[in-house]
Amino acid sequence: MPPDRILILGGTRDARELADMLVASGHSVITSLAGVTQNPELPAGEVRRGGFGGAEGLHAYLRRESVAVVADATHPFAVRMSANADAACREAGLPLLRLERAPWLATVDDRWLPAASVAQAAALLPERARAFITIGRNEIQPFLSREDVSGLARMIEPPEITFPPRWTLLLDRPPFTVAYERLLMTDHAITWLVTKNAGGRATEAKLIAARELGIPVIMVERPVKPPAQSFATAGELATAVRRLLSP
Ligand code: NAP
Repeated sequence: MPPDRILILGGTRDARELADMLVASGHSVITSLAGVTQNPELPAGEVRRGGFGGAEGLHAYLRRESVAVVADATHPFAVRMSANADAACREAGLPLLRLERAPWLATVDDRWLPAASVAQAAALLPERARAFITIGRNEIQPFLSREDVSGLARMIEPPEITFPPRWTLLLDRPPFTVAYERLLMTDHAITWLVTKNAGGRATEAKLIAARELGIPVIMVERPVKPPAQSFATAGELATAVRRLLSP
């Protein structure tokens, strides 16, 4: 009999770590990537790229590939993929486990303004703010539309739109150090940091730098995903999968 296959919905560092762990313990793993990043760091095991075609497409894929367990290790803001995974696993009667890193929490030394969406974050920036935007390339437009706001926008892949000259575009990939983040914010005379509450260590340094420099943060809050059995670390989820698949 072929081994039980595990489908990891990826696109995150956590997903890579999970795949590496499960492959190391002899499991058959397929990691699925949305296919939006040009040269992604690849995990161990099999990798597939591109959308499934909604929940129905994913359901068909699960059947075709004889998947036994699905691990949703997508980014906390990837709500569509998580909703599709929920629907497809219900339909197929398969276990769905979620890797959900803890959100960042403000300390007494932080000044955070919560925003319910990226559009709201852009609206919350005060007039003539110098902003450091770290929300990815797809949702940058509301900030560029603010003609009084300027600053630095960092993303992994180049955006499809042209940046006005009042903005500096920085293409870079985490992890970042606190010293580097502090330097960036100082060099670009940043007065506000804008980020999504992704959580995790790899991109946390900007929050520490902002705290040290007394720079306020607009924190885009996480969207709600369908309820699922969730684990905070790759190690915990890997243990749960091994338990599920043990004879
Ligand atoms: P999304 O809005 O939840 O998903 C949009 C569509 O992209 C999904 O319906 C699905 O297409 C496809 N898709 C997403 N993740 C996929 C995966 N792992 N494998 C195959 N297809 C996938 O997702 P998103 O916010 O665009 O994020 C896309 C990817 O980037 C995710 O893998 C996520 O983990 C990663 N990421 C997202 C963010 C963020 O801020 N949103 C940040 C860092 C990394 P079909 O319906 O055709 O299946």
